[in-house]
Amino acid sequence: MTPVVAIVLVATGVLAWLVLAPLWRRRRRAARMAEPLGAVARAAIARNVPAAARLPAELRARHEALVNAFVAEKQFVGCNGLAVTDEIRATVAALACLLVLGRRGHYDELHSVLVYPTAFWVEDEVEDEAGVVERRRRVLSGEAWEASRIILSWEDVLEAARFPGEGYNVALHEFAHYLDAEGLGLAAPPPAPLPTGPQRTTDGPVRPVAAWADDLVAEFETLLDAVDRGEYTFLDPYAAEDESEFFAVATEDFFERAGELRAAHPRLYALLQEFYGLDPASWPEPAASATRH
Ligand SMILES: [Zn+2]
Repeated sequence: MTPVVAIVLVATGVLAWLVLAPLWRRRRRAARMAEPLGAVARAAIARNVPAAARLPAELRARHEALVNAFVAEKQFVGCNGLAVTDEIRATVAALACLLVLGRRGHYDELHSVLVYPTAFWVEDEVEDEAGVVERRRRVLSGEAWEASRIILSWEDVLEAARFPGEGYNVALHEFAHYLDAEGLGLAAPPPAPLPTGPQRTTDGPVRPVAAWADDLVAEFETLLDAVDRGEYTFLDPYAAEDESEFFAVATEDFFERAGELRAAHPRLYALLQEFYGLDPASWPEPAASATRH
């Protein structure tokens, strides 16, 4: 084989791979999405994800399909001795997929989910305004870490199932941070990545992300004023930390106590409805037998 023939063959191979790999990935995902959800996964979701129990039939089918694809595509890593079970995979995937149910995209850059049995320590460095760098140790129940990983404490993920309707859900919170970093750029620093959202799977008009974010920041500032005045706030006061925490905390309420959020903050609810392409306040309440105490 002459060097020229070898170069042509390699170039053809690379080109074929570039064209065929995404097609192959799409086909594989479609096949996974078409498979029925297993009984263990379905039972885990019914037990641990109250919001999924309220999904209308047409959304439920899409949700189960997304969960199948998520479990198949993402690597779950048990940390500190935790053995990852099908229950853990299905529960985390079900929570993650609620957020993309009405949106395009499937956490394409996300590679792995690290799961700790309980809250975990992280050490990082923070720089204060004077430029002094300090090492700090924090206990966390979850963290959206880089574009490729999310870290969760399984004990804390289950808290949301133990106390449904209270607006606390660490998995929804961290996956909301992930979507923020992916397209909104509310988190600061680092500076805003490429703006891609809000998006919808429907063909309705989509506002530029900057206009949407301005409206969200106005809601954040209203909350900030209320917290500064020491008033009671419907949203957890942690939402006043910064814009990205506001978005993540509001997302928890949007899925965990949608009707109450809509009543307390109708404009914020409408903004999240626009972002997620969903109207969870309109989803039916679960049957009495499915209610937990
Ligand atoms: Zn947060």
